[in-house]
Amino acid sequence: MTGIGASATTQVIAALIAAALYVATYLSFVRLLRYPRNWYPPSLPASLATGVLAALTVALVSLSPDGLDRPALYISVGFVVVVFYIIAAPAIAFRPASRPASRMVEFLAKHGDYAGLWLLGPALLAGLAIPNIKLQAVLAAAMAIELTWFLRQRWAGRRRRLYPLSDRDLSVLETQVKGDIVAFRRRHGIRELVLSKGAVSWRGCGKSTPPCPFNLYVNRLGLNTAPCCREHMKELSHHVAACLSEMGVVHWLEGGSLLGAVRERGALLDWEDDIDLSVLLDGDMTWERLAAGLAERGARDGYFVDLFEKKDFISISFDPPKRWPFRWERNRLRGEIRADIMIYRRAISHGEAVLERQSHKGAMPATESGGYGVPQEIVLPTSTVPFLGGDVACPNQTEAYLRVLYGDFRKIEYTYVDAGPAKARARIDTGGDPSVR
Ligand SMILES: [Zn+2]
Repeated sequence: MTGIGASATTQVIAALIAAALYVATYLSFVRLLRYPRNWYPPSLPASLATGVLAALTVALVSLSPDGLDRPALYISVGFVVVVFYIIAAPAIAFRPASRPASRMVEFLAKHGDYAGLWLLGPALLAGLAIPNIKLQAVLAAAMAIELTWFLRQRWAGRRRRLYPLSDRDLSVLETQVKGDIVAFRRRHGIRELVLSKGAVSWRGCGKSTPPCPFNLYVNRLGLNTAPCCREHMKELSHHVAACLSEMGVVHWLEGGSLLGAVRERGALLDWEDDIDLSVLLDGDMTWERLAAGLAERGARDGYFVDLFEKKDFISISFDPPKRWPFRWERNRLRGEIRADIMIYRRAISHGEAVLERQSHKGAMPATESGGYGVPQEIVLPTSTVPFLGGDVACPNQTEAYLRVLYGDFRKIEYTYVDAGPAKARARIDTGGDPSVR
């Protein structure tokens, strides 16, 4: 009797360890998703750590003193692969229009709030068919996580403010829906779109809701950035610019944000999907000081700061940092209001003083050392430009800077918008002038 009791206790402890290992694997995996979400390949150490945790989970489930439990091995491996594929879909779907994700990934991303729950039936069947308590514990832990995720998304989604859609937002929407707004809303699962008594409004995102999935709405469907997201981009850009000024960091508006400031006279591009700022690491401003200063201010003011030291890149999001263990689950969301901060350093390239960055941007020329650079005198000393109701630092010669990035920057280009929707909205964006592409 004692022997049976002891063996049952051992089994329960092993099952609890298996469930805990699955949870650890899951947390490690959602953290890993920060890379594809920012268009980077996952780092090797982080991938290895997740892989080892997954292998330990599967080994504990399928190995016992009696030998290898083959059905448990196959089911646990298959289950982990499928559930992680579902979990990763929204982060993978964050790809630029030039490298679209597969239809399956897009489909799973669209249903990312609850797609994990589709495995509830198979998990129940497998748990009943295979009498392995460790496997049952892993399946139960995974389903509990998916259910919690779903409920938290649903609960958070409730507190939304209505924004009326008007003017250009409405005319772009009407162009993209091609006459049937109800069918369009249903086809793409746009829960934010509200039709009432002939008026069209948008159930806006906020600090306590998930962000609008505007990777789908703006990049895939060619809609305007929603008014709620524009409002939050404004707040975020002023927060980040104020932090950088307070820390005495040389910085300037970059890319699409600078283009909006110059071409759209201080506004965002209608299809803007992030705020771009650049920073010069110079003198005693090191990566460590910059990162620590931004992280501290983000924590104080309720913005999530993600640091990619090896990439010289910092991403600051509008949503507040969540407590552990939910911190990295944000990587399962299909949208993000964020400011991307790219690091520049001084360098000499072909005998010329340049400011150099690691990653490619627009048509910025390559430098001798393998980075990308812009002549120093185009940027320094920085100036300021009106942007979203404030004055934000910008390159000394804004138009020259934009020409380095985009050539003829007065021409409208939809860099991250899919080709079909971009073509459809072009007429509205150019005021009907067919000579402008
Ligand atoms: Zn929004």
